[in-house]
Amino acid sequence: MKSSGKGASAKITVSRADIPAPAALKQLVRTHAAVLKSSIRRMQSINPRNLDDLVHRLHDEAFSVYDCLNCANCCRSISPAIRHSDVNEMAVKLKIRPSAVVETYLHLDEEGDYVFRQAPCPFIDSGNYCSIYSHRPRACREYPHTDRTRFYQILSLSLKNAEVCPVVFAILKKLEQA
Ligand code: SF4
Ligand code: SF4
Repeated sequence: MKSSGKGASAKITVSRADIPAPAALKQLVRTHAAVLKSSIRRMQSINPRNLDDLVHRLHDEAFSVYDCLNCANCCRSISPAIRHSDVNEMAVKLKIRPSAVVETYLHLDEEGDYVFRQAPCPFIDSGNYCSIYSHRPRACREYPHTDRTRFYQILSLSLKNAEVCPVVFAILKKLEQA
């Protein structure tokens, strides 16, 4: 039987001090690998709706105190999967043909998804601003997925995302207490 996760979860909060510096993340993930895996196991035992409520609250708390402009780890190290509708949006913003977006910026990965040819993303600037922000791919808008419903479906993905996103790391680490 799944636990409700309601009792202890009310006391769990994320503050700015819980969110590590992006540069320290890789080492921290290695150091806390056991804690993160334990969090994943705990989450599997929580009622899915209660888990969503808890993770969404922690997401809101974290991003209310943390500015992605201080990080940009996701834009600098991984590529979103890019759909055809994303290509069309980028083409509008860049004022070039969709085929030119594909030829210039994208390639197919081993899973058959379009991704950016290079990392860091060609659209991130030195101040960590995205130059196509209003027309960025949907996966960029949704990353790091800590506000999506049925969070239980992306527990393994979130463990991987903890290596890239300091907010995901902070949330997973807190969830060990759930
Ligand atoms: S398109 Fe923008 S938001 Fe997406 S990875 Fe590139 S810089 Fe980041
Ligand atoms: S979503 Fe996460 S990895 Fe991306 S910039 Fe924000 S804090 Fe950094």
